[in-house]
Amino acid sequence: MMNSKNTLKIPAACPVSGRCGGCRDTGVLYRTQLDNKQKMMEKLLGGFGAVEPILGMADPMHYRNKVHHVFARDKKGNVLAGCYEAGSHRVVDIRDCMIEDEKCQQIILTIRSMLRSFRILIYDEDRGTGLLRHVLVRRGFQTGEIMVVLVLSSPILPGKNNFVKALLKAHPEITTIVINVNDEDTSMVLGKVSKTIYGPGFIRDTLCGCTFRISPQSFYQVNPVQTEILYDTAVRYADLKSGEQLIDAYCGIGTIGLTAAKNVPGCRVTGVELNADAVRDARINAKENRITNARFIAGDAGKYMEAMADAGERADVVFMDPPRSGSTEQFMKAVVRIAPSRVVYISCGPDTLQRDLKYFTKHGYRVGRIQPVDMFPFTAEHVETVVLLTKV
Ligand code: SAH
Repeated sequence: MMNSKNTLKIPAACPVSGRCGGCRDTGVLYRTQLDNKQKMMEKLLGGFGAVEPILGMADPMHYRNKVHHVFARDKKGNVLAGCYEAGSHRVVDIRDCMIEDEKCQQIILTIRSMLRSFRILIYDEDRGTGLLRHVLVRRGFQTGEIMVVLVLSSPILPGKNNFVKALLKAHPEITTIVINVNDEDTSMVLGKVSKTIYGPGFIRDTLCGCTFRISPQSFYQVNPVQTEILYDTAVRYADLKSGEQLIDAYCGIGTIGLTAAKNVPGCRVTGVELNADAVRDARINAKENRITNARFIAGDAGKYMEAMADAGERADVVFMDPPRSGSTEQFMKAVVRIAPSRVVYISCGPDTLQRDLKYFTKHGYRVGRIQPVDMFPFTAEHVETVVLLTKV
């Protein structure tokens, strides 16, 4: 897993380190970052069982295949594009980020340089004037397909056709361009309505032998190299057998459940996800990968599990991959009632993982394996973890 050359490399400290809320460990040896994360996880989870050595990256630079920049102007009127300063709405200008995909960054720089000639005004949060709010670029790691999402305050992009032509001329590798309309006074990046102005409106990427379609609104892991390691670990821990029922809760576009369904064609997978766009992607992903033993349900995972428990339905394995805020008591209570023999918890929030493991270990489950995976090098506090819980 580790490449000694890269783990010994000390990256130059980032010029916006400390202001950008993204990384805290720029200029820190990668090996040291991993050691620190290991210690943090042992402190948090060591009471539940042995924490396996964290799985790091061979090359921890430029791993983020989704790049989002917010646009603003400084007092002199210069265009800024980057991220919000931690805890504020001041924009930190980012031109060369060490964790973001380089191609995605170049595309954003090109868009920045095109704004003046296309007379595209930048949105002013305080006054609610102007057009361009954010640009989001996603690149399929295996396929190379690239999606550009322009988040605008109104659906009309002046000189749209020429804008698309000019952007494609500079970056012919872009496969789709989408306008997303966000006219609300909100810190959410994307609004509800998207309109495709070039290409199919989504990209595809390949993970663990399946191809996945990703829409602008759907969640997709940002570090594809480590995601394969994460899913492999989860599927291995589940040790799924033919004839078994698997729930993939908080399933996004179905990535983990479909990987499992493909590996064990005799099992039955049900994915549950709140975001309707992601569920649509998941259903199409099942079809496109010719997977017939998986279905997907749009709705709240807690409510779904409770209804399952009430109906006396069975599950042998539950995958749960909740957002950073963790799961809910409603969800976990229902899991305990359904009593699957294995629960595989995939977590991106170490604190909420600790909280939720306390619940499970108090209610008839025992922690079998704990595997941290470094999905977010340079960020110091962000660690993804796979935990196997087995019924006592
Ligand atoms: N397992 C997927 C997605 C994980 S991210 C993957 O690896 O790609 C967490 C997902 O939980 C997001 O897709 C989010 O939309 C979804 N989610 C958040 N709250 C939810 C809830 N209450 N019920 C179901 N899904 C929820």
